[in-house]
Amino acid sequence: MIPEAWRRSEVAVIGLARSGKAACLLLRRHGLRVYGSDQAESVALVETAAELRAEGCEVRLDGHDLGRIARAALVVLSPGVPPHAEPVVAATGAGVPVISELDLAARFLEGSRLIVTTGTKGKSTTSAIVAHVLGEAGLGPAAAAGNIGRPLSDLALAGPPPSWLSVEASSFQLHDCPELRPAVGVLTNLSADHLDRYASVEAYYADKALLFRHASPESRWVVNGDDRAVLSMTAAVPGVQERFSLERRAADGFFDRAAGWLALRGIPLLRRADLALLGDHNVTNALAALLALPPELDREILARALGTFRPLPHRLEPVREVGGVLWVNDSKATTVSSCLSAIRSIERPVVLVVGGKDKGGDFTELRSALRGARAVVAYGEAEPLVAKALDGAIAVVRGGRDFPAVIARARELAKPGDAVLLSPACASFDMFTSAEDRGRQFRTLVEEM
Ligand code: ADP
Repeated sequence: MIPEAWRRSEVAVIGLARSGKAACLLLRRHGLRVYGSDQAESVALVETAAELRAEGCEVRLDGHDLGRIARAALVVLSPGVPPHAEPVVAATGAGVPVISELDLAARFLEGSRLIVTTGTKGKSTTSAIVAHVLGEAGLGPAAAAGNIGRPLSDLALAGPPPSWLSVEASSFQLHDCPELRPAVGVLTNLSADHLDRYASVEAYYADKALLFRHASPESRWVVNGDDRAVLSMTAAVPGVQERFSLERRAADGFFDRAAGWLALRGIPLLRRADLALLGDHNVTNALAALLALPPELDREILARALGTFRPLPHRLEPVREVGGVLWVNDSKATTVSSCLSAIRSIERPVVLVVGGKDKGGDFTELRSALRGARAVVAYGEAEPLVAKALDGAIAVVRGGRDFPAVIARARELAKPGDAVLLSPACASFDMFTSAEDRGRQFRTLVEEM
């Protein structure tokens, strides 16, 4: 399992947050020499460094020794490390193999079948649904591992490998996963993203396509049958392909809107009303998850487990209803396109709370979706931009930078039967430490009403 070459020198681990730390421990467990480094030096990292040193790792904080990294036998990357970071460039320049923490961990989980989900949107939700059902069926952990969840190395460290595992993989991780062989690979959708880190859309798509690098006639794939880019990427990929669709009845996973059913392989499985998620995009996520799960799973168990899945925090998460007004936390929607899909997902007149730190999105794209909406409360740094972009399309109230006051304004505007939707279409750093922090503050204000 461990190539002899890795023992010839030390293994360098770049980035020492949760995934990097778990990778260091995994490598030590297998008797390898480890040099871990991180460019930062927070209190948490100092603690991690002490723990890792106690396990026999060499650790550097506040920077990387590039010469040392260039002499390593292998470099392991944490998920957050960008492809052009100095240590990565140093390693590749010196011909040192670079792999992601995900790829490393997967090598130590040979007994587990991995359901690997990637795509531009819906990765977390789809992989969380898969994990939830696996957990309910007793086949694997109920939480997804990988990009956002528990590091896969943590699972490789903990006890015997589960029979199935749900894994979320970003394009950056796939870039450095030469050995990852999913039992099932899921591609949710494709659209332009991360152009701050990729030279072109093609380069970004090329990394997504690495999901299929080991495709063989025995492979199983689940792909979006309504997405042209996905269909063209997967047209020639070997293996069994199943498709989900909101449009084509013949698809393996189909939402029969007229009848109100999610159908799996031609047979109705679950009523739409029994899926506790808002929006068509979440129906596609559920269909993708259904197809990705082991086909031998009992349909009744599948339907029951899907019905008990609850939305992830801060993603179109209904918080509560107050005086007939539904309050929905979609703080994770940091782009205009996510905000658009949220508005379309809510079948009530909406008071939209939108704003934050501008990411250069085009807010005029919201104009037509807001037809029929109650009002917009614009706030934060992007407030004037939002107000200008929506001028004449809808009543825009200036909310300012005091978040409780912003929410109070939304409350005044909403009428019974409406929804207040926090879907900021912007980053959070003007007023909050993160999108999660923003969502938590929203939730607290709503719970205190
Ligand atoms: P990811 O992990 O890929 O970022 P998430 O499941 O966390 O995706 O969802 C993030 C946001 O992306 C959601 O709030 C929603 O606005 C949007 N989204 C989720 N699933 C889809 C989908 N299947 N198609 C389009 N947009 C989606």
